[in-house]
Amino acid sequence: MVGELKGQDKCPCNSEKEYQNCCKSIISRISSTAYKQDYILNDFIKGSKEFDNYFKDAEKSLKKPIFWGSLPPKTPNHIKIREFTSANGNHIIAFKNIPPKDITPSILAHEIEHIVLKDNSYPYVIISKINSSFINSMLQDPLIYNKLENVGFDAISDFNNNLDKLLNECGFPEKPKPQPTDYYEAVKWILTYSQIILINKNLSKSNLSNFEKLFCPFYKKISERTKSLITDVEKIGYKNPIGQEEVIKLLNKNYNLNIDYNIL
Ligand SMILES: [Zn+2]
Ligand SMILES: [Zn+2]
Repeated sequence: MVGELKGQDKCPCNSEKEYQNCCKSIISRISSTAYKQDYILNDFIKGSKEFDNYFKDAEKSLKKPIFWGSLPPKTPNHIKIREFTSANGNHIIAFKNIPPKDITPSILAHEIEHIVLKDNSYPYVIISKINSSFINSMLQDPLIYNKLENVGFDAISDFNNNLDKLLNECGFPEKPKPQPTDYYEAVKWILTYSQIILINKNLSKSNLSNFEKLFCPFYKKISERTKSLITDVEKIGYKNPIGQEEVIKLLNKNYNLNIDYNIL
């Protein structure tokens, strides 16, 4: 296959060993095929000045290089990209479609930045009662949007598009879904709304009034709980690894999440 990383190729982890005698057994647990970085990234680097600049910088702050793979075919269609870190600290970004023509440069930079944060001692949740990505996104996405805006991506449009998508998923404006009755569903909403508030605070100019006009009166309890959580999170401080660890402990205690987290 074009762009495929073969067994005899040098392992991207810089060990100077062949891939088949080095990281292959770990990587293939997540992705049966691995791809060469140039093959995956060339179009992004050539097509986007912002991505080119961003990636040069990101590479310097990564302790371990990234492996590139594909998601299992049974992955739901709306998931186009996902990042993983194995127990021994190997990073993989996997795509639904190869080559990943359906991924924008800012979406790819976003996933890479999650890895940069992990490699710089930011804690990340691996196990919890709800899908860990709700917690990781709440903590890391505000920092990522801020970073991507600073390096020239149109993070504000990305954010606004995501807000529109979310309102749509909730059924607004015509037929909003009722407030969740399940406890952990409600917690997911609190974390999602918290993430939105924190991202908004970390962008130079964006506003939530359209979103909140629809969301808050309808999901009243969730809105109130979220606002009191935000007060606590800001008191602790969530912008550095130590603060994030404290916030994870707070979420664990507040919501009975049985969280287990890692720090590389
Ligand atoms: Zn290796
Ligand atoms: Zn994210």
